[in-house]
Amino acid sequence: MSAQVPLIGHFIAGATTPGSSPRRQPVYNPATGAVAREVALGSAADVQAAVAAAKAAFPAWADTPPIRRARIMFRFLELLNASRDELARLITAEHGKVFTDAQGEVSRGIDIVEFACGVPQLLKGDYTDQVSTGIDNWTMRQPLGVVAGITPFNFPVMVPMWMFPVAIATGNTFILKPSPTDPSPSLLIAELLRQAGLPDGVFNVIQGDKESVDALLAHPDIQAISFVGSTPIANHIYETGARHGKRVQALGGAKNHMVVMPDADIERTVDALIGAAYGSAGERCMAISVAVLVGDVGDRLMPTLLERTRNLKVLDGNNLAAEMGPIVTAAAHGRICGYISKGIEEGAQLLADGRVFDGAKAGAGCEQGFWMGGTLFDHVTPDMTIYKEEIFGPVLSCVRVKDFGAAVKLVNDHEFGNGVSCFTSDGNVAREFARRIQVGMVGINVPIPVPMAWHGFGGWKRSLFGDMHAYGEEGVRFYTRQKSVMQRWPETIGKGAEFVMPTAK
Ligand code: NAD
Repeated sequence: MSAQVPLIGHFIAGATTPGSSPRRQPVYNPATGAVAREVALGSAADVQAAVAAAKAAFPAWADTPPIRRARIMFRFLELLNASRDELARLITAEHGKVFTDAQGEVSRGIDIVEFACGVPQLLKGDYTDQVSTGIDNWTMRQPLGVVAGITPFNFPVMVPMWMFPVAIATGNTFILKPSPTDPSPSLLIAELLRQAGLPDGVFNVIQGDKESVDALLAHPDIQAISFVGSTPIANHIYETGARHGKRVQALGGAKNHMVVMPDADIERTVDALIGAAYGSAGERCMAISVAVLVGDVGDRLMPTLLERTRNLKVLDGNNLAAEMGPIVTAAAHGRICGYISKGIEEGAQLLADGRVFDGAKAGAGCEQGFWMGGTLFDHVTPDMTIYKEEIFGPVLSCVRVKDFGAAVKLVNDHEFGNGVSCFTSDGNVAREFARRIQVGMVGINVPIPVPMAWHGFGGWKRSLFGDMHAYGEEGVRFYTRQKSVMQRWPETIGKGAEFVMPTAK
């Protein structure tokens, strides 16, 4: 790789470093197709350096009173708020998503930092006075030690913030392994944490690919791994991490359905579908990729949906009029085109073909970028590859079903269970839907029901491996372990040994 472009390195023990490995990967501007930077790919030795720094920082950080850890988070929050647009610009530059959407991503990440600022309250234990005469019992939650987070390309700010604010605030030290596709925001975050007064070694970044992930998974000093990415890798992380004795939460891929009932408001439903299917070029784990059209609603909705798909404003993400930006990489572009061909081959009805989009229309210099328009398929059936697999691009598949029961069965039979939504004007249908659906996050007339910071995020089935969801109180539980303490003081000492199980006296 040429030395003409800036290098994005690691952040270990409070300083950036190119690391010990000569391995590099290009970082593209997806809008132009040009190589804008290159990223260092960490080796096992780089991981070892980060773990050593995090391990050395842990005892003092774990001993720091939660209120003082919270004050550092508050300072970080102020700095983040001042750097919102800088972070959003970095996201657009390397991911391609439109600037306003990138601003939204940063905001949703900041929500979790705000949640983590409340850590003294979150760490309050339970106390029972006088469980037996002269004995009290309480529980407290203590940090695990060095923990790591491995994150995907599609939310380079928000997804790391599902993890490290809660992990750090609860007293752990953290190693972030971001996606090498859009690595720059991780270093800005590290710098802001440093400026906020976080001690060196509490937050570290290792750039890289499988090599650094494998080193993290096998390292005996790492207590827990949080992962977000595709299902095959999530499965691998869960199994390998568990085999090495680690606590693991591994969030995987998705195929999110929107069930549209015949009584749904057509205009509002189309608005919701267009945004949820094509926003961020469909590269969201909560994107709607299947519309389940119940009864006659398909015939009534399709003309508007098709017109809106054809008229999507596909533009350079820095253009404030843009509704959709480019695809993240040439490889992803090729994969999505392959799915579209497969859909046609397997008999789905192609209504809008995003492959014909000409990048030159997206803006000056965009001719060689990774561009694509919105694709719309109708009459997709459950046996087709485009129905079964996650495409992760701007492709919406419409499936027709006869009634509500068939819609619920269709969703419940799918291997993924991340997000789902139901558009209806019938409260009873909405209630039944929320109760019967086998999916972790449900929206009623809400297309992308990403839970707020204090509720926690997580799918079901093959969308999540592990027991606990990300952030919220589940996040606090994931990054801490419970200790129960029983105490008795001198007046009861001196009565001799007790050989029976203590019972209340
Ligand atoms: P990915 O699985 O390719 O990569 C995720 C992370 O794993 C990256 O840090 C990557 O470097 C690392 N990785 C990749 N291959 C690896 C390997 N063989 N061994 C070890 N580590 C490896 O995912 P992506 O393409 O970056 O992101 C898109 C995927 O993430 C989609 O499937 C999407 O649904 C999913 N996602 C899920 C959620 C969720 O909350 N469930 C959120 C965002 C994204």
